[in-house]
Amino acid sequence: MKVLVINCGSSSLKYQLIDMSDESVICKGNCERIGIDGSFITHKANGGEWKVETSFPTHVEAFTKVVEMMTEGEGAVIKDKSEISAIGHRIVQGAEKFSEPCLVTDEVIQAIDDLSALAPAHNKAHAMGLRSAKAVFGEEVPNVVVFDTAFHATMPPKAYMYAVPYEFYEKYAIRRYGFHGTSHKYVSKVAADYLGKKPEELKIITCHLGNGASLAAVDGGKVVDTSMGLTPLGGFMMGSRSGDLDPSVVGYISEITGIKGNELTDYLTKKAGFLGVSGISSDCRDIEVAAKEGNERAKLVLDMYFYQLQKFIGSYVAAMGGLDCVVFTAGIGENSPTVREGVCAGLGYFGIEIDKEANKKRGDIVDITAEGAKVKTLVIRTNEELMIARDTVAVVSK
Ligand code: AMP
Repeated sequence: MKVLVINCGSSSLKYQLIDMSDESVICKGNCERIGIDGSFITHKANGGEWKVETSFPTHVEAFTKVVEMMTEGEGAVIKDKSEISAIGHRIVQGAEKFSEPCLVTDEVIQAIDDLSALAPAHNKAHAMGLRSAKAVFGEEVPNVVVFDTAFHATMPPKAYMYAVPYEFYEKYAIRRYGFHGTSHKYVSKVAADYLGKKPEELKIITCHLGNGASLAAVDGGKVVDTSMGLTPLGGFMMGSRSGDLDPSVVGYISEITGIKGNELTDYLTKKAGFLGVSGISSDCRDIEVAAKEGNERAKLVLDMYFYQLQKFIGSYVAAMGGLDCVVFTAGIGENSPTVREGVCAGLGYFGIEIDKEANKKRGDIVDITAEGAKVKTLVIRTNEELMIARDTVAVVSK
């Protein structure tokens, strides 16, 4: 069974074709600058890589080109699109309406579109992608939607409610949703398998540290709390996002700068975090280099980052009443020994201690636990596409 996994942004379309018999990637690629001049596709397959400049006025042309790249020329991997058994789409916001992956119908697409107020940068593009996929692949290929919010749907009200007048929750669905759920789900399952335990037996904190970043407290296989909130701007500081702030900071910045509403949200999404504090870069590698060279603001970024993460980890130990395992994943979590060491330093009280040599290693799963430490610390390469493909198979097999 071959599953095509799709991640649609407003001007991009990432794809991966996965052979579910051995969960291998058959081909993958990205259509960029959709609806903008200079659009192109990059396609990797059969050991080669191609970049083709072509016009993508909409996502329909992009999907059509993806089919062409998969079926024609040196990068061809299938004879016909009918070889694709199902398409799995990543959707950022499912809110309370979608707590599980489901089959796509016109009503489902409309509901995803209607949730755009809660994820303006994403859901509109996802709905457009779903309509385009249906136009290009027809009704014969089932489409499945997998939500970034779904794994967090088990959070209790005490964790997801904000202390604002209740009508904002009732009328406008304002609450914590959490994101990166597909990644938190994948790595927490891999961790349980690695430890030879059932997810129900474990208390795990999963640290998805990428450009966007979030933590989840996974107790018995179910999320009980997570750091991101109504939108992916909440939680701890990220590459260019502020994370949580005293709400009056937002009003005060607005007063000083004259930047208001969505523009201010955009400002705190793109100009804050590592970039805003350091004035150097949103990229963790640049911050680490600058800190090593003695740049004080880069050092401050790392100090703040470690401290904020330590506080979240401590609060999640309290939320779960214990801890068995910490998992680091995503761009920073998988690749930065400095961040892992900085975060874990000082968490010995909770039983978290890492082995400095093991912490330098790379791999799909690396156990960096120090000898005798009570809590296991693992580095696990995330694979959101594979998780989406597995969820897609589960839905179409029902
Ligand atoms: P992601 O959003 O998961 O793709 O992660 C992107 C982030 O990973 C970027 O901010 C990079 O700075 C970070 N990253 C990638 N490789 C490294 C590395 N070797 N050391 C530190 N950070 C890294």
